[in-house]
Amino acid sequence: MTKYRVLITAGPTQEAIDPVRYISNRSSGKMGYALAEVIQKAGHEVVLVSGPTCLPVPEDVRCRFVKSAEQMLDAVMHEVETVDVFISVAAVSDYRPKELLAQKHKKSGDSWTLELVKNPDILATVAALDNKPFCVGFAAETENIVEHGREKLIRKNIDMIAVNDVAAGDIGFDHQYNSLFVLGADMEVRIDRALKVEVAQQLWGLIYEQSTN
Ligand code: C5P
Repeated sequence: MTKYRVLITAGPTQEAIDPVRYISNRSSGKMGYALAEVIQKAGHEVVLVSGPTCLPVPEDVRCRFVKSAEQMLDAVMHEVETVDVFISVAAVSDYRPKELLAQKHKKSGDSWTLELVKNPDILATVAALDNKPFCVGFAAETENIVEHGREKLIRKNIDMIAVNDVAAGDIGFDHQYNSLFVLGADMEVRIDRALKVEVAQQLWGLIYEQSTN
């Protein structure tokens, strides 16, 4: 077995509005943490870059904690040069508030309009590097999931994408279970509904197989 160095992002990001408020999402981090645990136990070195979660860091996994997408990009770019595989599981907030208010926004008037600006795409940034690692993305889709996944695989110039059908009830975001369509340039594999740690084992098997090809 070749011992890999694997970088994983996990969890949500928090985009601050003022000292007490932020924009975030319902990602629990469970899928990324399950992958970190499975890959470390398979004998590889794992570095986790994690947004805020309530999960314990798996044993022997080095973790860098971040809050915002910009902090996550910074931490990833510090680690990425020496990794063989990058797995981008984090639910990165696509937008952040244009300005960070220094003081708590006071209640006034009946509405409050927040201007948002686009965050950097961490996965696409890594995939554009000259000596890019084997890049794996995740996507949450509600319809035409294989078509949308394939479009993202090509647009982000990545090697593999794992697509969640988030419309399918008790899987994906914030759940114990997941089921995935895993797409590569000439592969399409379905991982049936199972506990996230079991899904992580199957997914790592596919990543390892494809990246050593
Ligand atoms: O385009 P979309 O957000 O659906 O793509 C999802 C994939 O891209 C995930 O792997 C996610 O971790 C990654 N991503 C990222 N930076 C962003 C947005 C998404 O790395 N700003």
